[in-house]
Formats: sequence, structure tokens, C-alpha cells
Amino acid sequence: MKVLVINCGSSSLKYRLIETDNKSVICKGLCERIGIGGGHFKYEITGSDKGYEKDIEFPDHNVAVDALIKAITDPDTGVVADVSEIGAVGHRIVHGGDKFTEATLITPDVMDIIEECSDLAPLHNPANIQGIRSCLKVMPDTAMVGVFDTAFHQTLPEKAYLYGIPYECYEKYGIRKYGFHGMSHEYVSKETAAIMGKDIKDVKSIICHLGNGASITAVDGGKSVDTSMGYTPLDGIIMGTRCGSLDPEIVHALVEKTGKSLDDVMHILNFESGVYGLSGYMSSDMRDIRDAYREGNEAAIRAYDTYIYVIVKYIGSYMAVLGGADAITFTAGIGENSSSLRKHVCDRLKGLGVEIDDEANENGKGARLISREDSKVKVYTIPTDEEMSIALSTVEVLKKQGKA
Ligand code: AMP
Repeated sequence: MKVLVINCGSSSLKYRLIETDNKSVICKGLCERIGIGGGHFKYEITGSDKGYEKDIEFPDHNVAVDALIKAITDPDTGVVADVSEIGAVGHRIVHGGDKFTEATLITPDVMDIIEECSDLAPLHNPANIQGIRSCLKVMPDTAMVGVFDTAFHQTLPEKAYLYGIPYECYEKYGIRKYGFHGMSHEYVSKETAAIMGKDIKDVKSIICHLGNGASITAVDGGKSVDTSMGYTPLDGIIMGTRCGSLDPEIVHALVEKTGKSLDDVMHILNFESGVYGLSGYMSSDMRDIRDAYREGNEAAIRAYDTYIYVIVKYIGSYMAVLGGADAITFTAGIGENSSSLRKHVCDRLKGLGVEIDDEANENGKGARLISREDSKVKVYTIPTDEEMSIALSTVEVLKKQGKA
């Protein structure tokens, strides 16, 4: 089945048309600067040079969806004759609260619940909803499926998702750990079991999604049992610009000591902290930090060492949560590409049965084992593919509905 995957941000729309039968990407692209002027459209076709880029003004998401549908159905440059060839549209939805435990067919009732969840993700869910509405305008008869960043983590036990605050805060306001990057953690944990040649039910894995945003998840038998991001994606490990977990009293202290407003302090914690802030605003990009670290730059060493330390701490604690892990898997921009980071993390986990294979870690491409064969805990690097995960989940939903 051909599934159109849509990932809508407030001013951008990423799309990918996937043939799920053979897990191949037919085309992909991006509509940038929606609603802010200076719009730009990108369209790439797998195995063809007919793709193009051009400036198009996108006053709203409807115009962006129109542009992408026009591109993929165009008689010259298109990849389908008609939108009816698209079996379904899979929409990435950032927050499903505790209402959605799996990908879900979108109905008017489901739309209402996603709107209710906007409270929990005010920057993301409204854009996701807009994406669904825009697609429905041009494809009113095509099935729309919502795939939630939070759904995979709905298996967390209560003891893992509750915070140590009055229980009524959870009951009244839904304040609990939700977890994010669910599509990536689900996909990579499945791929980890597959590469091990094991049934996922028999595998305890720790998935390290280390990109600009980053989270670590403990997966037991295919179920997320704990994850580092929390009520929001600000929690957990140190990230490119996000602070990760900290003593909540620090927020109070920063407001008092800097004289800044609460909103300004939250801006610092989201956009000026993490590796970027720790390095003295050098860079949020791990490549820059790593290069400066190698040159002996003190600020880079401070940021890098702190980053590695926190990752090691989370992996160690999740080994305890799982009662021992069979596998640790690194994924996303940093996890897939930085062999030095993987080595620095794994070397500190030697005492817990992790033996990296330097040769396999340094050389080779794509999904592979990077620990020694006799390592008690196997280590892998596996490229994540959130869009493929969305497309496959979309087909699963349609199958359950008897529509595929
Ligand atoms: P993502 O958010 O998954 O796209 O990851 C983006 C991050 O991956 C960038 O900010 C870089 O820090 C990091 N990255 C990409 N390539 C490399 C590399 N070769 N070595 C280290 N970090 C990398």
C-alpha cells in the first residue's frame, strides 16, 4: 500500500510517500516557512532526477498540502496518477496524552481528543491537527491515521510515570511522565530484536535516541517500561540546547538571580542550555563539540564529558530497571554517526558487561553489532526511521479495521 506520511510543524510540513509492501520511499520533500513568507518547496524522487526545489508562498498549511499533491500527481514529474492511489495518510501527532495507546484511525471524535491534548503540546498538536484538516480537504475519502509520539510509552507502569508530587496533580491536571520519540523507540527496539534473531518478547533493550533532541528508553519484551523524557521533551538527558532533568528549585533560583521572567527562564532551559549552554554557547552540534574536544578546548571537554556522564547514568539505571539488559542500541544523528561517543559511553559501562568492538564500531555502515561477540550486553547501532514506522503503523491500523 502507498502511504503518505505527513509531519506538520507550525511553519513546516515534511512529507514522504512510502510503498509499505517493500518498505521503500517513493518520494519525499518539505514545505518550509508556512505562514511566515519566503516559502520554499522541496521534492525528491527516489531513483529519478525529476525532483525539484522552488520558492512557493505558503500562506497556510492548505496551500502546502495542495503543492505537494500537485507535485506527486503531476503528469510529468509525479509518482502517482491520482490521489486515489494513496491508500492512507499517516500523520505524526506529538501528544496523545494518556488517551492514545496506539496509532488510531482519525474520526471527528478522535480529532476532538487530539485537540484536548493540545494543552499538553501547545506548539505541536495544533499544527498536527491543521495538517490533518488540510489533507482531508484534498483527500476527503482517504483514511487518515494518527501516529503518536507518546503512544509507545503508554505501557509505562504507574511507578515509572508518576512524579513525587501530590497525586491530585496527576488526577486533576494529567501531570505525569508521557515520554516522546515513541515511533523511533518502537521501530529501533523491533529492529534490535530482529538483528539479534530473537522474538521481541524475549529481549530487554535500552534504546538511546541521540539526536538534537534525545531520549533513552528501557524496553522489556517490546514494551516501553521507562523513558527519559517526561511531562515534556525537556526532561531527561542533556540535549543540544535543552537542559534535561534538573532540580525544579533551579527555575525559581534563575528567576530570582537573573531578574528574568519565568517565560524567559524557560526559554533558556529549552534553547540556551544543554551542550550549547554548557560549552559557553560554542555550539549545539555534537560535531563541533567533538572537534573542539579533540583540540583540547576546555569548554568543549566540559560539555562533552557532562553529556556522556548523563547518558551513562541513564543507561546504568535502566539496566537496573530491566534487571539486566540484552542489548543497548544507539540511534539518531549522534547515535548513528558518532563512533567516538559510542565508545566513550560503552567504555564507562565495562563493569556492567559491555565490551565494545573498536573495529566494528569505527568501520562499517548501517545497522550492525558494534560489541564483541562475547559481550554480555550486545551493543548495536541501528538507523532510526520514524517515517517508515508511521507508515507501517498506519497499515496496521487499516488491517485491524479490515481496510487493508
Ligand atoms: P537528529 O536530530 O537525529 O537529526 O541529529 C542531529 C545531530 O546529529 C546534530 O546536531 C549533530 O550533533 C549530530 N551528528 C550528525 N552527524 C554527526 C557525526 N558524524 N558525528 C557526530 N554527531 C553528528
